[in-house]
Amino acid sequence: MKKTHLFAPGPTPIPPEALLTMAHPILHHRTPEYEALLAEVREGLKVLFQTTEEVLLFAASGTGGMEAAVVNTLSPGEKALVIRGGKFGERWGEICQAYGVNFTPIDVPYGKAVDPGLVAAALAKDPQIAVVLSTYSETSTGVLHDIKAIAEAVRKTPTLLVVDAITSLGVMDVPMDDWGLDVVVAGSQKALMLPPGLAMVGVSRKAWTAVERSRLPKYYFDFAAEQKHLLKNQSRFTPAISLVVGLRETLRMIRSEGLPNIFRRHERLAAAMRAGITALGLELFAERPSPAVTAVLVPRGLDGGTIVKTLRTRHRVIIAGGQGSLKGKIFRLATMGYADSTDVVVALSALELTLAEVGYPVKLGDGIRAAQEVLQKQ
Ligand SMILES: *Cc1c(COP(=O)(O)O)cnc(C)c1O
Repeated sequence: MKKTHLFAPGPTPIPPEALLTMAHPILHHRTPEYEALLAEVREGLKVLFQTTEEVLLFAASGTGGMEAAVVNTLSPGEKALVIRGGKFGERWGEICQAYGVNFTPIDVPYGKAVDPGLVAAALAKDPQIAVVLSTYSETSTGVLHDIKAIAEAVRKTPTLLVVDAITSLGVMDVPMDDWGLDVVVAGSQKALMLPPGLAMVGVSRKAWTAVERSRLPKYYFDFAAEQKHLLKNQSRFTPAISLVVGLRETLRMIRSEGLPNIFRRHERLAAAMRAGITALGLELFAERPSPAVTAVLVPRGLDGGTIVKTLRTRHRVIIAGGQGSLKGKIFRLATMGYADSTDVVVALSALELTLAEVGYPVKLGDGIRAAQEVLQKQ
């Protein structure tokens, strides 16, 4: 018997309710049944994004939603400000480059969060910047940027704020309308508890003005064309039907738990995970840690790849290593989406055994106890 436990920052575990509903025979999308389904999903997405605007759906991984945000808000010759400091922040720059968009980067050292003052200063220095592109939860380093403070700086200006909220929506508060976030991107395989393949993009009133003017090339990812169909509970092309069926189910689960409870649960799980990690004598990598994923520094003398591999092969526990220059130097454990307190204990238990197996001195149970103490209190 082989039982696998998934603690990767995407894809994440899928609740049985969603798996079962997606196993039904396929619906046809040009039918009243699909239109009723999409009508419910549209409402559920507005609750999740905390917006009165429509949330557009595209059959794509999260990166497709990011690319869509760039091509729909910018025109040739316009400038962007890109907050880097991790693989996903860097991806914004790569997309700009692919479309010939000039951008100024703010390079944040890996493991650190951006100083929102730097964003305000960059906008004051160069009012020509049309769009700020940022990550909220930088999954590659486990850092949470202060998007609320960044939004306060941006919303006073004509510049738009585009946020990669792919590991934030459904994890922590992302009040799109309240904070004045202009484009918010989500993906199905993170806290939305679904398989990969669906990108969701919320677009503010302010952003729609730019969308109407934007002249970067686009065909599939055309916000204005897609919105026209969405308002009739339809999609321009064949939608990811089964994923939309699953999304109705996970959005129902999200509504019934309630956003504040969901945010508290993620805070609590991440706090327990961090307590367990530090009790084992390990160091956290992120200075301002995201509640979606806990990044851990690999102790000196050990290889992160071996830890990840041992967890997978001996314990069938899937976590993520470091990416790019962080390869081998950190490992990452997600507690995102369909995750509860017992999951933290399972992950720490397997990690303790693994550390002992690779020759790191641990006292079995130390991490688990520290996590349980947090769980008992909170
Ligand atoms: C997972 C993720 C993405 C999207 O990656 P895809 O593989 O395209 O789904 C983008 N940004 C962040 C912060 C992520 O965690």
